[in-house]
Amino acid sequence: MDIHALARPEILAMRPYESARSSAAADGILLNANEAPYTLVSDPAWERLALNRYPPPQPRELKSRLAGIYGAPESGVLVTRGSDEGIDLLTRVFCRAGRDAIIECPPCFGMYRIAAAIQGAEVLSIPRLGNNDWQVDIKALCATISQSPNTRLVFLTSPNNPTGDLLTRQSLQEALAACEGRALLVLDEAYIEFCEARSACELIGANPQLVVLRTLSKAWAAAGLRCGAVIADPLVISLLSRVMAPYPLSATVIDAALQATGGDAAERQGGLLKMIRTGKRDLVKFLDRQNWICDTWPGKANFVLVRVDKAPALVAFCAEQGIRIRDLSSTPLLNNCVRMTIGGPYEMSALEKTLAEYGEQR
Ligand code: PMP
Repeated sequence: MDIHALARPEILAMRPYESARSSAAADGILLNANEAPYTLVSDPAWERLALNRYPPPQPRELKSRLAGIYGAPESGVLVTRGSDEGIDLLTRVFCRAGRDAIIECPPCFGMYRIAAAIQGAEVLSIPRLGNNDWQVDIKALCATISQSPNTRLVFLTSPNNPTGDLLTRQSLQEALAACEGRALLVLDEAYIEFCEARSACELIGANPQLVVLRTLSKAWAAAGLRCGAVIADPLVISLLSRVMAPYPLSATVIDAALQATGGDAAERQGGLLKMIRTGKRDLVKFLDRQNWICDTWPGKANFVLVRVDKAPALVAFCAEQGIRIRDLSSTPLLNNCVRMTIGGPYEMSALEKTLAEYGEQR
């Protein structure tokens, strides 16, 4: 598989910017980055983090921490500002404006098509099967991949947002075979920790066309950090590095991401996942008792998708009580659908109380 042949020629041809921190060691007397010699804030945290200095572009300790968590070699990890940045970098490196295409399988996360639109790439949509479990239409997907030679990126999500379904290993293998030598398969695993399924990171070695997106925003409870990772063949990682900002991660984020994933964070994550599982089980039981709810898809992630009689009315009623749930009515295939994130016990009982009131007054 020739990954370079898929990249935009101008990205391959350009000489990437060499920042001070990427081209020289960050110790000794630092006079190579036009920084100030000290901070103006007398706070030990500022001193410790040396906030007068530019941070390392790819901090070693964090990269190695994430490589360990995701079971990937460090050369196959790019630390990003969340998966959103991974999606953006992939689209900018691999899609030529006005010529190339991405494939998405809606309903799915909305940023794949936005990134493509910004880059001027075409979006080919293969709707998920409407047979109630939202599976990817793998036959149509593979046929489209082989019939559209300008497809560069195929975005799949497992578990999917907002439908919550998992991509089966069989479907993944079929899609990987269809992408071989033609396109990259980008598997977004933002919610994988919430279910028992195995991550596909382990398949990258044998399938250099596979790119996996991971994030600290969901099961690591750190959405405010804006931190995630692209896991891919080292060649893909080095191409993405070419277009990434020189210092994408602030020193405070690097420090906080190490805290979010270090110490006993994994045990605390176990507690969070258990709470979400219990909260979801109880919410689904509650929803099943509401006769005005037409369909419930519990899915495998930290949210539940439901279809109701009038989604905008329900969402407005909840908003009046200060509860925000997501109206997806305007998404194709999701008319009158609403997505509810599983929160903590207090949030779930407030939600159930409000839903019960809505049921009574409608
Ligand atoms: N992928 C999916 C499927 C998502 O649902 C989201 C956010 N809702 C993201 C990626 C973005 O994640 P991040 O916060 O890491 O940018």
